[in-house]
Amino acid sequence: MCRRLWEARLIAGADGNVSVRVGPDTLLVTPRGLLKGELTAQDLVRVSLAGAPLGGFRKATSELDLHLRIYQARPDVGAVVHAHPPTATGFAVAGEGLPATVLPELTVLFGEVPLVPYALPGTPAVGAAMAPFLARNEGVLLANHGAVTWGADLMSAQIRMESLEHAARIILAARTIGRVVHLTPEQVHELARPRGMSGHDQAEP
Ligand SMILES: [Zn+2]
Repeated sequence: MCRRLWEARLIAGADGNVSVRVGPDTLLVTPRGLLKGELTAQDLVRVSLAGAPLGGFRKATSELDLHLRIYQARPDVGAVVHAHPPTATGFAVAGEGLPATVLPELTVLFGEVPLVPYALPGTPAVGAAMAPFLARNEGVLLANHGAVTWGADLMSAQIRMESLEHAARIILAARTIGRVVHLTPEQVHELARPRGMSGHDQAEP
């Protein structure tokens, strides 16, 4: 998944971090500082849900706290992806989230993607700023920083990250053309009704 993030240009350099729940109180997380496109299994770090190191040779990601907060708030979450997707992060730099009312896949996968106020990267302030959004959202933009998505498993979280960036590009294209037509409340309701909030197999609009 890290290689895929890099190949899709959702991260550059040592950007980004990924975690996955592998037991009731155990996570595998990416290491601090390394190129994510070149990681091997030996580079991954095993930590408890409280962040205690349980195994591995590397130091855990500097954004570990952000990951832990999501797992602690959401027992249904099995994986978290943090990346710096260029167009979605452009919205975050412009001070905007992504609306729930323009693209069906965005509506189904996320609802809206809110903007979390800026906090210093690599500090617990990022997780603290995200906390109010965790219960009701499946992903966020971090102001002047990047994006975080989560899901029941690694595939769901990854699909959300890729779809988030793709949607941001489409919205930007529509703005360049000069007109954004929003779905009606009825159309949004119709999308949300028969589907669950998580599970990548349910989202094929
Ligand atoms: Zn970051």
